[in-house]
Amino acid sequence: MRPSETIRGELCVGGVPLSRLAERVGQTPFYAYDRRLLVERVASVREALPAGIGLHYAVKANPLPALVGFMRTLVDGLDVASAGEMAVALDAGADPVHVSFAGPGKREPEIAQAVAAGVLVNLESFREVELLARASQRLGLPARVAVRVNPDFDLRGAGMRMGGGAKPFGVDAEQVPLVLRAIGDAALQFEGFHLYPGSQNLNGESIAEALRQCHQLVVRLAATAPAPVRQVNFGGGWGIPYFPGEKALDLAPVAEALMGIKNSMASELPGGQLVLELGRYLVGEAGVYVARVLDRKVSRGQVFLVTDGGLHHHLAASGNFGQVIRRNYPVCIGTQMDSAEREKASIVGPLCTPLDMLADRAELAPAHPGDLVVVYQSGAYGPSASPQAFLGHPRCAEVLV
Ligand SMILES: *Cc1c(COP(=O)(O)O)cnc(C)c1O
Repeated sequence: MRPSETIRGELCVGGVPLSRLAERVGQTPFYAYDRRLLVERVASVREALPAGIGLHYAVKANPLPALVGFMRTLVDGLDVASAGEMAVALDAGADPVHVSFAGPGKREPEIAQAVAAGVLVNLESFREVELLARASQRLGLPARVAVRVNPDFDLRGAGMRMGGGAKPFGVDAEQVPLVLRAIGDAALQFEGFHLYPGSQNLNGESIAEALRQCHQLVVRLAATAPAPVRQVNFGGGWGIPYFPGEKALDLAPVAEALMGIKNSMASELPGGQLVLELGRYLVGEAGVYVARVLDRKVSRGQVFLVTDGGLHHHLAASGNFGQVIRRNYPVCIGTQMDSAEREKASIVGPLCTPLDMLADRAELAPAHPGDLVVVYQSGAYGPSASPQAFLGHPRCAEVLV
């Protein structure tokens, strides 16, 4: 589900042809996010999942305030990973009861901000128990806490592992009983558990398996909790296809696993709600990155389209955001959608570094200065995950259409 409508040979986002959208934005390069596709994606997830599961949006994937404000109306809660993101979520009108805050290195003022706001803190260490206790005492408010657990198993098939083995995230499962005791002693308001096994997983079976393992672990840990479990958050990490040969995630096994977990939780942890916090999966396909071709160069027979955009806006598409092998994101010439001609061309940016490549020898419609290139699958981990200051070029714009 990515933008696909065309009008007179131009790709449209939210029904607006790209060249007109560029005029409206007032500049290239820009990111454009399609509201309709966001709505459709959330609806399709809800349709696939058993009823009663809380669907949260992980703000980290795309913290644009307008987008967060829009997502807030579609989902049941927001997950933030800093006090900065917390401010975006609260400004967007999120109810603090349904905001949770995770992250391995929370600063003392951030912890106090979270307690004052009344959001749920996913605590990740003994140090945080102490800081939360101090903030609670000072503010006269018991901190709402859940324990982020680093599970004692690995998730297979995840692009980026964030749980299992030695990790800076969460509390090792074997230490959780001690943390739970400390939470009880400090009279914090214990609400549940949080687990986040890994990101960009395209294998529904492996997600389902991880969910089952997470569930068993939580039931085991809940036995020593100082209060009933009210929320169990199984994180995000559902992937979207970027590269040739990658297939969209099959939600059927995930839904089946969640149904089983939900049913057994009803008796094992009565009153506990199951929550997912998805980032990339909810917003990634709804966004495109658009840059203008400045120059067309042929170097020893190879075509280079030099654009005004590049890795400083879109690190992930350049292959430098955690990828092991550089592969092309899906790209097109957004102003030549009716062209049947194809040539091999590389899309590069204006930075003086060979890393600044958005597509390496892709099959594209022939393009010339003035044409607009499009990088699909760009709604998540875009500008906020890119080194915009690198080389002093202008920042990109962003628009929700
Ligand atoms: C990054 C993150 C997410 C979202 O991950 P996606 O792979 O984008 O779904 C969810 N929860 C936590 C705690 C995170 O750090």
